[in-house]
Amino acid sequence: MKRTKIVATIGPATDSKEKLKKLIKAGMNVARINFSHGDQKSNGKLIKYIKELRKELKTPIGIMADLQGPRIRTLVEQDIKVEKGETILVGDTSFGSQNPKSKFQISNKIQNLKSKNNTKSKIQNPKYFLLDWPGIIKNIKIKNEILIEDGLIKLKVIGKEKDFLKAEAINGGVIKNHKGVNIPDTNLKSGAVTKKDLDDLEFALLQDVDFIALSFVSNAKEIINIKNKIGKILGRKNQLPQVVAKIERKEAIKNISEIIKATDAIMVARGDLGIEMNESKVVIYQKEIIAKCLRSATPVIVATQMLNSMIENPRPTRAEVGDVSNAVIDHTDAVMLSGETANGKYPIQAVETMTEIIRNTEKSPFDNLEHGFLGDKKNSASAAIAHSAHELLKDTASKAIAVASVSGFTARMISRHRPESLIFVMTNNEKTHQQLSLIWGVQSFVLPDCKTMDELIDRSMETLKKEKMVKIGDKLIVVMGRPHKTKEHMSLVKVEEVR
Ligand code: PGA
Ligand code: MN
Repeated sequence: MKRTKIVATIGPATDSKEKLKKLIKAGMNVARINFSHGDQKSNGKLIKYIKELRKELKTPIGIMADLQGPRIRTLVEQDIKVEKGETILVGDTSFGSQNPKSKFQISNKIQNLKSKNNTKSKIQNPKYFLLDWPGIIKNIKIKNEILIEDGLIKLKVIGKEKDFLKAEAINGGVIKNHKGVNIPDTNLKSGAVTKKDLDDLEFALLQDVDFIALSFVSNAKEIINIKNKIGKILGRKNQLPQVVAKIERKEAIKNISEIIKATDAIMVARGDLGIEMNESKVVIYQKEIIAKCLRSATPVIVATQMLNSMIENPRPTRAEVGDVSNAVIDHTDAVMLSGETANGKYPIQAVETMTEIIRNTEKSPFDNLEHGFLGDKKNSASAAIAHSAHELLKDTASKAIAVASVSGFTARMISRHRPESLIFVMTNNEKTHQQLSLIWGVQSFVLPDCKTMDELIDRSMETLKKEKMVKIGDKLIVVMGRPHKTKEHMSLVKVEEVR
C-alpha cells in the first residue's frame, strides 16, 4: 500500500461517476473541486458522486473545496499585441459599472480610460487594458511587475496617473481577455476571501466538505477569519472542515510560521508561487515548508505541474517522474494533480503513474526520515509518547502501529515520524475519518464509542483482522489516550500480539 497520499483535481475529464471510481481505484485519496472553474450546480454534482462512491467502496475520500481567492484577470476589447519596450496603459474597474462582463461594457470602460489620457504624460495611440479588480491600481507602485498568463507577458510599472498606470513591456506577447494576472509585491487589501469565495464557501459548507482551501493567503489572520466564519455559518464547534492554506504569495512565505500555526493544512501551490517568486526558488521553499510542517505535525501537499506533460501524453517526462519521487523523499503528506486529472487526455493513467512512482520511491531507503530531522524537544507528553511508539515499532520489528484518535491529532503525531509501516487509525468521528485521507501512511477505520481501553483495543484488533490488515501472530504497537475524550491525550503505548 502506498503511504504518500494523492490529491486529484476533478474537472471535465473526470466528471462522471465511472471516471471518479477509476480515479479512486488508481489511488486518489482526496478529490479537489476547484471553484475557479465550474458552477455550483456542477460542483455540487461532483461532491454528491464522491460521497456515493466512498460509501459504495467503503473507503475514505476527502473532499476539498478550493476557493478561487483574489485572482485578478485581464479585460481587453480584443487581443493586444505588445512589443518588448512598448508602453501600455493599465486601468481597473473602479470607475463606471463594476466588473464589466460584456465586450460592450469593457469597450465603454476603455473609452472612459482613453478620455482620461489627456495629461502631460500623453502617449500617442497607446494600447490599453484593464484589471478586473476595482481599485487595484491604487495599490500598485512604480517598479512593481504585472505578470500576465503565468508570467508569459511581463510588464513593469514606470508611471502612475490618477486613473491608470503606465507600464513597459519587459517580455512582449499577446494580451488576451480573462487571463490570470500576478502582481507579486502588491498588498491585496481585500484579503484572501472575495464575495464570490464567500458565496462558494457557504455552498461548500452546505455540502459538508472535508477541506476548504484558501487561495493567495498572505497571513495568519486570514486563516483565523475564515475559521471563525466557518464556525459561525455551521453553528458548531466540531466536525468542521479543515482549512488548507495555499502558499503562493511572497507575503505567505514571509509569514509562513504564523500561517502554519493558524492553519490545519498547507499546500505548496507551486504554480502561482513560481510566478510571484522566482521559479528557481520554488524547490527550496518546498523543502523548507515541508520540514516546518513535519515539526508541527501539519499536513502538507505539494501541488502543480507534477506530471504536467500527461495532460497531452500517455507517459510523463523523466524530469516529472523525478519531481514526484523527490517530493516523496522530502516527506510530503500528499502530492497533487491539477490539469492532469481535471482536463487532461490521460487522467486515470496520471494517477496510476503517480501511485507507481510513490510505491517505488517508498520502497527505497531514500524516503526514510533521518534521525533528528524533526528537531523535536519532546517537551509535550504526546510528542514523547509518539516518539516512543516509533522507537518500539523499530525495536520490536512490529508490523504496524494502531492508534486511537478522535480529532486526528494523535494520528498526525505518529505519522510525522514517517514510520516504515502502515498506521491504522481507529476513530469514532466520521469527519476525522475523511480528513485522515490526507495524512501520510494512515489507513483509518470508524469504530463505535468504547467504554474502556480494553474494549477499544479488542474492537480495534477485530476490525483489523476482519479487514485483513493483520493476521494472528502479528505484533502491533498500540497507542491510545483515554477512550473517546474530545481533548486528546496520549497516555498509553504497548506492544500487542494479534490473537
Ligand atoms: P491553483 O493553485 O491551481 O488554484 O492556481 C495551485 C497553484 O497555484 O500552484
Ligand atoms: Mn494558484
